[in-house]
Amino acid sequence: MEVEVNEIDELLVELIERIAGELGVVIYSLGIEGEFTDEQLSQELGVEINDVRRVLFAMYELGLAAYRRTRDDETGWMEYYWKINYEKEREVLKRELEKTKEKLEAKLELEDGSVYYICTNGCIKVRYEEAMEYGFSCPRCSGMLEFLDSSEAIRKIREEIDKIDEMLSMLS
Ligand SMILES: [Zn+2]
Repeated sequence: MEVEVNEIDELLVELIERIAGELGVVIYSLGIEGEFTDEQLSQELGVEINDVRRVLFAMYELGLAAYRRTRDDETGWMEYYWKINYEKEREVLKRELEKTKEKLEAKLELEDGSVYYICTNGCIKVRYEEAMEYGFSCPRCSGMLEFLDSSEAIRKIREEIDKIDEMLSMLS
């Protein structure tokens, strides 16, 4: 039987991997309930404690991990008690998707509102007015400035936004 991969899970793994790396995905998938110290986790996984900490702090930034600190009376060192916020994953994903959507929309607005010309040798990309000032020849290499057809780029951005909207509706 073929296993159906949940698209939301896949997205979550992608996000964790991008922010916290492979080790982040490993730690997250352990499904640890309750608190643990970075030292415990480091021993259990056989990974450097600094790597574990780096990953946990990256996940904390994302909202997928939380910690409390206490001072160890004997050593005087700070001890971190960590917890993975599994219950926040939908919320975190939603926020990240909305951020990406905003960026895409800004990009779309930029593409939609202007006509661009590019140097055929790839030196510059300028607006129509500027291209006219240069007499449609590149100020760097004197190559020709050519009209840039951005319809394909726009179509791709629209597609990405549609995909995000679909996933957002799955999350709410
Ligand atoms: Zn040029």
